[in-house]
Amino acid sequence: MSKIARFVIWICSKFTKNEIEQIIAGLLDVLEDRNPEVKPKDDFKEKHPNYRNFSVDPLAPLTEPPQPEKPLPLKDYKQILAAYELTHGKPLSPVKYHPTSPRVPQLIVCVCCKAPHRYLYYNDGIKRTQLRCKLCHQVLLPLLSPCPLYLETEKRGHPLQVLK
Ligand SMILES: [Zn+2]
Repeated sequence: MSKIARFVIWICSKFTKNEIEQIIAGLLDVLEDRNPEVKPKDDFKEKHPNYRNFSVDPLAPLTEPPQPEKPLPLKDYKQILAAYELTHGKPLSPVKYHPTSPRVPQLIVCVCCKAPHRYLYYNDGIKRTQLRCKLCHQVLLPLLSPCPLYLETEKRGHPLQVLK
């Protein structure tokens, strides 16, 4: 027996003939859209559970690989240091940290000139989201760490130039 047939039996057991006629009149009002406060349950989503689950991307798909961003002008921190010493007659000192300022971790190098951490400082202080290189003046965004290969060669005591 369907749930509708069971419901009809249940109504007949609870209501008189006159009440059932009122129920039918009320249901006809709903079905013929004469009752603005009551609407039949919309079972479209139950019948079509995947309707509009997929949407079109706002942008068209790429037809060619994206162009890389403009590469950083590569410099050599050793050349920058040598040029400074030649000009000023003394070597450029590493960053002098304020006692309370955050230290740049030892494993971080400048992506532009490969200057070691002692020439880098946090450009935005305690937020530590922006590094600046004292040698090439490059601002590094976001915080970049050297690639694992560089870290491995550094542990073995080889400069990055060996990899080229
Ligand atoms: Zn640099």
